[in-house]
Amino acid sequence: MEKDKYQNLLYNKENYYEKTEESEREKIFDFAEGYKKFLNICKTERECTNFAISKAKERGFSEYHFGDKLAKGDKKYFINRDKGVSLIKIGNRDIEKEGLRIIVAHIDSPRIDLKQVPLFESDGFCYLKTHYYGGIKKYQWTTIPLSLHGVIIKKNGEKVNINIGESESDPVFYISDLLPHLSRTQMAGKANEIINGEQLNVIIGGVPLKDAKADKIKINILKILNDKYGITEEDFVSSELCVVPAMRARDVGIDRAFIGGYGHDDKSCAYPCLEAMLDVDNEITSICIWVDKEEIGSEGNTGMKSKVFEDLIDEICYALGCNPRQVRGRSICLSCDVDGCYDPNFPNVFEKKNTALISCGACMTKFTGSGGKSDSSDASAETVYKIRKLLDKNGVTWQTSELGKVDQGGGGTVAKFISQLNIDTIDIGLPVISMHSPYELISKADLYSMYRVGFEFLR
Ligand code: MN
Ligand code: MN
Repeated sequence: MEKDKYQNLLYNKENYYEKTEESEREKIFDFAEGYKKFLNICKTERECTNFAISKAKERGFSEYHFGDKLAKGDKKYFINRDKGVSLIKIGNRDIEKEGLRIIVAHIDSPRIDLKQVPLFESDGFCYLKTHYYGGIKKYQWTTIPLSLHGVIIKKNGEKVNINIGESESDPVFYISDLLPHLSRTQMAGKANEIINGEQLNVIIGGVPLKDAKADKIKINILKILNDKYGITEEDFVSSELCVVPAMRARDVGIDRAFIGGYGHDDKSCAYPCLEAMLDVDNEITSICIWVDKEEIGSEGNTGMKSKVFEDLIDEICYALGCNPRQVRGRSICLSCDVDGCYDPNFPNVFEKKNTALISCGACMTKFTGSGGKSDSSDASAETVYKIRKLLDKNGVTWQTSELGKVDQGGGGTVAKFISQLNIDTIDIGLPVISMHSPYELISKADLYSMYRVGFEFLR
């Protein structure tokens, strides 16, 4: 009893499932159903962008271009090169006084891209040469069913969308690994050399075309592709294709507590952010940004480093007759990205008190980076407090987190690029088990907590 008396002096994380009433638990499980459907049809940034556009249109949003007029009550979406999309809501309140509410998540996930001259044939197989995208453990991507996604721009300028391997009747693709019987040398090597980058060759076929003179399997593949899409080998040069796990998102656990799936990083944040943006009927002017290229450092004109996001904010301000510098300085942004979850199977790399625990809610990360916090924007105590107050006031289950032990490794998010625009920015997202693997794991409780974070922030 003496212990309880002092309980309120302590910071404790609580399991969200344990805290919830039956009605809230139902909401948690219902929300997960929509998310799984999204995950199954949105494996690339282009597919995510299309999804967000169609969802936004259903809710009365219309397309916005730089220079367009904006007025209170407008609901708009801005497309960046089909690989990112921002939803914009113009509220009633004065943004020069109150700033914007910005919520960001990335829609690219680690995967295996095709090279620009991918096809080659060897000893009964036709393969695709690849170049992996993002930080992957290469050996994890062998011996699993893979699907092919992306676009090819043909010689005549026509754009062909490719999506093979997701429907039950489709074939899938495959990267081989060595049989254990002959793996003595392989298994004695370093894990990052078990499969090297040039070994990530994807099997695409094996039937030779009888009347071809050489490369009979490759010619047959090209003939099939030509019959179906009208493409030639040269057209791969202007293509953007990748292979991703062909596996569907599934409930994990007999109690269905978890979801296994490809791309929880960062679609488990992107989806709840979008849903919150669509559901909130707000007075505040807000932007929900789905951004590309986070996994390779937020580079290029579709990544968070791009000037396009500063331009977007500026354009909104000009359209509303406001000073963008004043608005940015008073804005606040949630950089919604996943964090490493404490894994009892690998306790040594985590410092448990400061690591996100599964099912304890969305995790707020004051700083990311590595070593001495390098490459982190390190949100201020004031910014942390603003969000802490907001979430606590509204009864949202959340927790604080840091990625693993000091000097064990590290990682970054888009937060630092947004904060450079003079916007208070803080990371918050889901704890993920087996991050960057072909089949990651999250908790449904954390997913719903993220939705509640987004909803209360934008409300
Ligand atoms: Mn991420
Ligand atoms: Mn990542």
